[in-house]
Amino acid sequence: MNIQLGCIADDFTGATDLANNLVRSGMRVVQTIGVPTAPLAADVDAVVVALKSRTIPAAEAVAQSLEALKWLQAQGHNGQSPQIYFKYCSTFDSTPEGNIGPVTEALMDALGTDFTIATPAFPDNGRTVFKGYLFAGNVLLNESGMQNHPLTPMTDANLVRVMQAQTKRKVGLIDYKTVAQGEGAIRERIALLRAEGVGVSVVDATSNDDLHLLGPALKGMPLVTAGSGVAIGLPANFGLKPSLQASQLPAACGLQAVVSGSCSLATNAQVAHFKATDRPARAIDPASLMHGQSNAVVQQVLAWAAPLLQGGPVLVYSTAEPDAVKAVQAQLGVAEAGALVEHALAAVARGLVDLGVQQLVVAGGETSGACVQALGIAQLQIGPQIDPGVPWCHAPGDNGGVHITLKSGNFGTEDFFTKAFTVLA
Ligand code: ADP
Repeated sequence: MNIQLGCIADDFTGATDLANNLVRSGMRVVQTIGVPTAPLAADVDAVVVALKSRTIPAAEAVAQSLEALKWLQAQGHNGQSPQIYFKYCSTFDSTPEGNIGPVTEALMDALGTDFTIATPAFPDNGRTVFKGYLFAGNVLLNESGMQNHPLTPMTDANLVRVMQAQTKRKVGLIDYKTVAQGEGAIRERIALLRAEGVGVSVVDATSNDDLHLLGPALKGMPLVTAGSGVAIGLPANFGLKPSLQASQLPAACGLQAVVSGSCSLATNAQVAHFKATDRPARAIDPASLMHGQSNAVVQQVLAWAAPLLQGGPVLVYSTAEPDAVKAVQAQLGVAEAGALVEHALAAVARGLVDLGVQQLVVAGGETSGACVQALGIAQLQIGPQIDPGVPWCHAPGDNGGVHITLKSGNFGTEDFFTKAFTVLA
């Protein structure tokens, strides 16, 4: 193994989003679920270790991130540490306790480096940074709805201030004027910031052009911290160009199915679209899973699916409109309802694969986590993009393994559940 870039992502679908950007820029990428216990058995340019560390206590996030770092360092070329990329959310989801600041600091200490950048800019998804202020779409972060997030309310769009509250290192800014002048000016600015004692610098970027200008200036920086956007400018530093080979997966085989537990607007439209094509679809009512009935319901669903699978993709879903979800949550409690449904859908996914499904679409971030766990998947090779942020992946295994795509809530066009299989074919 001699990976060039080792990435640590603080959540699961965020890891796939980063991997997708790297693949599109020419890197062959594997994503691991958690920190692997053995060396990687795949020839790739980058590895993304997917953690679930965004909202856990800071000390635990630091410990997990350092464990990931240690493993990634062991995968470098001739014992050389690969460049390390700490990936967080493009809305900088965090609190004054962390975890972006504490993890950044711990990684800097472990790598013995005194400078890194921090920018969640992802213009393709409407996240831009201007004069240190983060915009989500056309509004400042703290007006975007993120100020009401239940776990990581973002009430200040000034990333220099937000980051400074989370770290003992001095935080600075590389502004849009400097970025526009390219590598030389950015490197000069970095030298100046370092001389002023700055350890972490927020970077402006309002377009992909900015990210491509930033990329060369990051060559050789031991640690980069960012959303997934900065990734588009890095593969070129390793002499890699966009290529079809980077996203090549083994040929797909086996039966096809969709499991959907996301209740987002986009997913509701995707379920409706699939049903309108007259493909077989079966709803799971969360209330029916209560009182220990989950296993029985799962078995009924699998018995329904078994004879239909030969005819093409089937859909199993708990996806529902907001009013229905609220009613169920009022009856069962939010966490209980979520866990019950996730558990059932994961068992359905497991059962479908046992029935011969080898091409699986999963909709929903938490749902994806549950399904991947139930399928015992430890490693995913990242393949071609279906829609922005959503690539096909391949998990090696018996009889050719499983092709799987993990679609987070609001991603994907309305015809995603049928289009996905066309892309794979
Ligand atoms: P998204 O990516 O859209 O946020 P997730 O899978 O992360 O989707 O989250 C959806 C959550 O809602 C999961 O915990 C899932 O189990 C739960 N859920 C799914 N369907 C229903 C439903 N009909 N009623 C209540 N909760 C549901």
